[in-house]
Amino acid sequence: MAFDYDLFVIGGGSGGVRAARIAASEHGARVGLAEESRLGGTCVIRGCVPKKLMIFASQARLMTEEMRGYGWEGAEAGAFDWSVFRAKLDAELSRLELVYRAGLTRAGVDIHDQRAVIADHHTVELADGTRKTARHILIAAGGRPSKIGIPGEELALVSDDLFVMDALPRRALLVGGGFIACEFATILAGLGVETVQVYRGDAVLRGFDREARDLATLQLSQIGVDLRLGTTPTRLDREGDKIRVRFEDGTDERFDTVLFATGRIPYTAGLGLENTEVRLKPNGAIEVDEWSQTCVPSIFAVGDVTDRVNLTPVAIREGHAFADTVFGARPRKVDHSLVASAVYLRPHEVASVGLTEEQARAKGPVDVYATQFRPMRSAFAGSDAKVMMKLLVDPCTDRVLGCHIFGPEAGEMIQLAAIPIGMGATKAQFDATIAVHPTAAEELVTMRVPTRRHAEIAG
Ligand code: NDP
Repeated sequence: MAFDYDLFVIGGGSGGVRAARIAASEHGARVGLAEESRLGGTCVIRGCVPKKLMIFASQARLMTEEMRGYGWEGAEAGAFDWSVFRAKLDAELSRLELVYRAGLTRAGVDIHDQRAVIADHHTVELADGTRKTARHILIAAGGRPSKIGIPGEELALVSDDLFVMDALPRRALLVGGGFIACEFATILAGLGVETVQVYRGDAVLRGFDREARDLATLQLSQIGVDLRLGTTPTRLDREGDKIRVRFEDGTDERFDTVLFATGRIPYTAGLGLENTEVRLKPNGAIEVDEWSQTCVPSIFAVGDVTDRVNLTPVAIREGHAFADTVFGARPRKVDHSLVASAVYLRPHEVASVGLTEEQARAKGPVDVYATQFRPMRSAFAGSDAKVMMKLLVDPCTDRVLGCHIFGPEAGEMIQLAAIPIGMGATKAQFDATIAVHPTAAEELVTMRVPTRRHAEIAG
């Protein structure tokens, strides 16, 4: 059978764009791609990129505070003008979107700026009714923010909405204690918004190393976020131009804006999957094997829609590996076991690769090399903020199992630490590396003696 395309990609985000571009430009495939929103997807349009620019915008007050400690008497951040920032942000996102479009066009990919749904194992139907056939279909539709199912929650925003606000709220409530809630609490507080964050647990960033979580929890309060642990909203009501929020403990308060950052779900609803034999996990994610192939041989899926490790660089790697495997006769799997990540808080970021202390203890004996100290730059300015560095080492093999950093630019540091750890480096090899002085990162190669040793497997 003659197909219109060798590959049809549904979704023009990180994973879909990479797969389409590599399949077309490097492996000569005839590729079509459909995107219902803007090219670039969550990361570029309503995620990592605008978020990080907002983090930079939000740190002015912390920076001027520090500079006052260096003798810049009277240094002030001045007034933040959201409309100026927003116009620059919009322009930057439009520029990036064009870069994505140009890259696809140069590669020879046919871009369809509309929604596509699957009609059968080799056919997609576009919103305008056109049908396209393809030897392979790649689903890279991403994820969508999810709420928690309480009355009135339609009044609340999700992270997508924050990048397109007309004005900053005076008083905001953030619900959740994950990546997005903590980053946005940092941003809003930094921009001068009175920020309340509620989280049902006892320390934010579940899944990260406990010591880093405790420091992040403390930092949120120190930068002015009114962080309330162990509670959650039960109901939202509109009251004039405010939203009245009731909490579990029976109290209630009014906010200008409420934002739910309570997780994301795979965007598979309405994709036409009922017309296929593709299997879904209970949360709606597409089930794939290690080659990103569904149980239908012609249909593959990459990125957040598969709910493996929901991070942009992972989706990109999965999309690239798929294109090389299927169109380049270069079979490649993606190793999801050792993916570094960072949460962009201020002044200190949380960054991590490998096992947490809690995970390492559950697996076997572990030596913990950890240190907390006041870094030179902020300590000189009079701040008590502490940096934390931690290496987890297998006492039998001397291999470094995990690295956790809480500090300025921790995301930059963990990227480099991830290389030796991925290569199976031992603690002795870390120690053999001569320090770069004076840096905070030198602690990673100068911690000689374990801070504690866990000889027994934790129960
Ligand atoms: P997360 O899964 O990180 O956090 C969700 C938060 O919502 C958790 O604190 C969770 O609590 C809470 N929550 C979930 N359900 C409920 C409920 N019913 N009631 C009360 N609280 C609830 O999701 P995010 O939305 O923050 O981010 C989504 C994903 O986006 C991340 O997992 C990450 O993969 C990606 N991301 C990555 C970033 C980065 O790399 N820097 C930045 C932003 C997003 P609990 O912990 O108790 O379950």
